[in-house]
Amino acid sequence: MTNSEVDSIEFCGGEPTIRSDFIQIIDRARHMGFRRIKVLTNGRIFSDMQMVIKSIEAGCYLFEIKIWGSNPDIHDYITQTKGSFWQTIQGLKNLQRLPIDKFICIRIPICRQNYMDLQNIIATIIPYKINRLILSFKDSSLPMRHALPYIEKSINISILNRVWILTENIPFCVMQGLEHHIHALYNVDKTPYEISYEYHENCKVCIYKSVCPGVDSQYLKNFGYQEFSPVIESKHPQDIKKLYE
Ligand code: SF4
Repeated sequence: MTNSEVDSIEFCGGEPTIRSDFIQIIDRARHMGFRRIKVLTNGRIFSDMQMVIKSIEAGCYLFEIKIWGSNPDIHDYITQTKGSFWQTIQGLKNLQRLPIDKFICIRIPICRQNYMDLQNIIATIIPYKINRLILSFKDSSLPMRHALPYIEKSINISILNRVWILTENIPFCVMQGLEHHIHALYNVDKTPYEISYEYHENCKVCIYKSVCPGVDSQYLKNFGYQEFSPVIESKHPQDIKKLYE
């Protein structure tokens, strides 16, 4: 559970929805005065329409749902749970069916097993009236440069479909030209993952150093820092810095 703002509360995990008192906890949060109640979930529980209705009646309107693949072969392989893909998709369908205001964010953790599937994942979920997509680079054993072409194409697909898309854990120097999609720029929820970041030799002269947290320490151990060339000049940093002021 996190509580980043006074009237906001977020339930993450593990998987918060497997608790038998999940609905009561949401209800309690609402009665405590939290207006913005969010759940970060695999979405499987919402394959039961009753659970969608109960969650919303209890006061949860913000849903962040993790998807790992565009099909059961990839998604269920990564989750190690047979049937989980179709349950998550059914959960999305059910959320979409309810005609009330809600916010649905899809989180796609990028890893070795799914990075080549990113565009297919985006194409699969966009019909479910998604409000926001987050591409979260999560695998410190996957070279970023391998995933980057797929990330760029995924961003283009989202833009064409008018879906807000952000990236997480990918530094500015790698995202040049796409900096405005970097999650950290916006006052939206923090990453649910505990990642320790560090600067490297090239950061010393980079114009983004004041707004960039650096690179995942484990990634630097695995691959070094050569792919993170410092940005010396860009037309964007002033605009970006203003977002932090
Ligand atoms: S060179 Fe360092 S400070 Fe600059 S964007 Fe890359 S990781 Fe961030």
